[in-house]
Amino acid sequence: MSSSQPVRQRILLKLSGEALMGKSDFGIDPIIIKRVATEVKEVIDAGVEIGMVIGGGNIFRGAGLAESGIDRVTGDHMGMLATVMNALAMQDALEKIGVQVRVMSALSMNEVCEDYVRRRAVRHLEKGRVVIFAAGTGNPFFTTDSAASLRAIEIGADIMLKATKVDGVYSADPVKDPDAVFHHTLSYDQIIEQRLGVMDATAIVMCRDQNMPLRVFNMNKPGALMRVIQGEQEGTLVE
Ligand code: UDP
Repeated sequence: MSSSQPVRQRILLKLSGEALMGKSDFGIDPIIIKRVATEVKEVIDAGVEIGMVIGGGNIFRGAGLAESGIDRVTGDHMGMLATVMNALAMQDALEKIGVQVRVMSALSMNEVCEDYVRRRAVRHLEKGRVVIFAAGTGNPFFTTDSAASLRAIEIGADIMLKATKVDGVYSADPVKDPDAVFHHTLSYDQIIEQRLGVMDATAIVMCRDQNMPLRVFNMNKPGALMRVIQGEQEGTLVE
């Protein structure tokens, strides 16, 4: 079937929970979340369909809780609930600036948000709503990076964008090693073999096996998200 409608770009944006913390060491910085929401609005206004996954590391991580004595699975449930809190905060920030949003959770909590149903998520995206995928994969022992890879593949995103605090992927930590080399492009296997710590192996392998391109970029740089969307040289492309 042919259509005169231009094909719209669909992206999955992954933010870590820490990206919302700003300078504090816990919780959500209202100025940061507002700025991220404004950048997401620009992308929506440009006609791009956007799904988001936000981590929970600014509140709880299962592994950290396990170290303090909490059962790992319970800790992971707490981590997943933390991602729902972040999703609700982002929903609020986006709605305040006139963007339509649906939070869809992998764990049922119907009084708070919708359940994740792939077909419904795609319909929301087609209608120009931001969909925030909350509660990770719904399973313990996974991360929100894996949830982001999974959702990106499920919704047929053109690319997954991983927002970080640095400009992209380096051969070593650029903060600690002045000789660290910046990579403009990398293969999935280079990331796995060189243990480059971009995302956990599960998330990378899923992208590799399903040919989901990944761009790692610095969301702290104002306008970087839009530059990525416009295809400018920003961050590291993994494919
Ligand atoms: N989590 C989980 N299953 C998932 C996704 C997340 O159990 O599918 C839990 C896990 O405890 C994790 C926490 O939720 O540590 C928060 O997610 P993550 O650490 O990925 O957040 P980020 O580092 O991106 O802020």
